[in-house]
Amino acid sequence: MAFKTIIEPFRIKTVEPIKMSSVAERKNYIKNAHYNPFLLKSSQVIIDMLTDSGTSAMSQNQWAAMMQGDESYAGAASWERFYDAVNDLTGFEFVLPTHQGRAAERILYGYLGGKGKIFISNTHFDTTRANIEFSGATAIDIPVKEGKDFDSDYPFKGNLDITLLQQLIKKHGKNIAAVIVTVTNNSGGGQPVSMENMKAVSALCKKNKLLCILDCCRVAENAYFIKHREKAYANHSYRQIAQQMFALADGAIMSAKKDALVNMGGFLAVADKKLADACMNLLIITEGFSTYGGLSGRDMEAIAVGLKEVFDDDYLNYRIKSTAYLGDRIKQHGVPILYPIGGHAVYVDAKKLYPQIPVHEYPGQALVCELYTTGGIRCVEIGSVMFGKYNKSGKLIPAPQELVRLAIPRRVYTQSHIDYVIEVFDEVLKNSKKVKGLKITKEPQFLRHFTAHFERLK
Ligand SMILES: *Cc1c(COP(=O)(O)O)cnc(C)c1O
Repeated sequence: MAFKTIIEPFRIKTVEPIKMSSVAERKNYIKNAHYNPFLLKSSQVIIDMLTDSGTSAMSQNQWAAMMQGDESYAGAASWERFYDAVNDLTGFEFVLPTHQGRAAERILYGYLGGKGKIFISNTHFDTTRANIEFSGATAIDIPVKEGKDFDSDYPFKGNLDITLLQQLIKKHGKNIAAVIVTVTNNSGGGQPVSMENMKAVSALCKKNKLLCILDCCRVAENAYFIKHREKAYANHSYRQIAQQMFALADGAIMSAKKDALVNMGGFLAVADKKLADACMNLLIITEGFSTYGGLSGRDMEAIAVGLKEVFDDDYLNYRIKSTAYLGDRIKQHGVPILYPIGGHAVYVDAKKLYPQIPVHEYPGQALVCELYTTGGIRCVEIGSVMFGKYNKSGKLIPAPQELVRLAIPRRVYTQSHIDYVIEVFDEVLKNSKKVKGLKITKEPQFLRHFTAHFERLK
């Protein structure tokens, strides 16, 4: 018998209160935050879907493990448990603990990069691209063309375009510093990469003696999609699938703030001793000694446990199904979304929802503000506020899409919270014709979406 309700596979033992608020209060809060939800206080938010990064709820076993945190400077027992967990999952001999994903990126890509070097990925995540470009190197994205078609139900839109990869290898040869496979493809909508694609990338890298790195932030979520969409893996466990992916790479970078189910942490793991030694030097200079890097003993304990828990069948089933539940429902109710739904977030097409708002009046930001004032939901615009640029005469060059991302924190919200979000969308849909855009009144030079101020257009 298949019941429709997605039961959270956990009971709640510690509660974090949510402060309720009225529409009138929220109108005031968002005005004072200059219509930028990044400037709201978390206490002014009812459902926080800003990001899935570092927002997971930890389990009783993670909290219990933290009490065993060994904070010795060198050779701590917590380090041994962390090393064993990472080594057992990834198979890589050399493990460098870092305070979050971007620290691992700075170390590895800073070392491999530099002027004239090329990095190739399905899509470089923004911190990945920033660290590569900061080193002077170039980052090239080669997602498959199906990844850009939002109505096709191609099952692995996170895949790399193998023909393009072959062409780039021919063209750039030894200047290619690494090929980075990001699972799931965060910037591409949390879409999965197939094992078949990973095998093809790995084979090309081996043949051409290129380094293949797995950006494995969401490797467990990716394994779910492989098991359910790639026939050959239907009888593998999620963990075995992840282990096979690691076996096809030469190293991995992880932001533990995602699939390690913790609030802070990361690592770099590699197979090659020479590469590990070079990175270790940078680790000790900028993060910390090799047996703790950027982490306290208790953090390493929580990650070691989280890396096991995340592969639990019941957890992954709940995780991916509850993301799909939100996406499917709002789609049925008439909200235009990107399809298929990825692992950690639902993306709404704000340009389709608000055809009356031109891109230079930021339809995505308008939706973000509507969701907040209507229901206290906080989410983020991924469109021309985030990626728009100006030409020489000060005219906006818009982003390719005007999206709004609803990211789902792990193990935090229940189905009733999600049902509430669906109801808020119904209300937002009812009023969609009346909504107006915004203009930017103040903005910094870089990463303007974090701190920009807006005004509502009349
Ligand atoms: C979050 C993320 C990173 C960066 O990790 P931080 O822990 O935020 O520094 C790198 N790559 C991908 C795919 C990510 O999602």
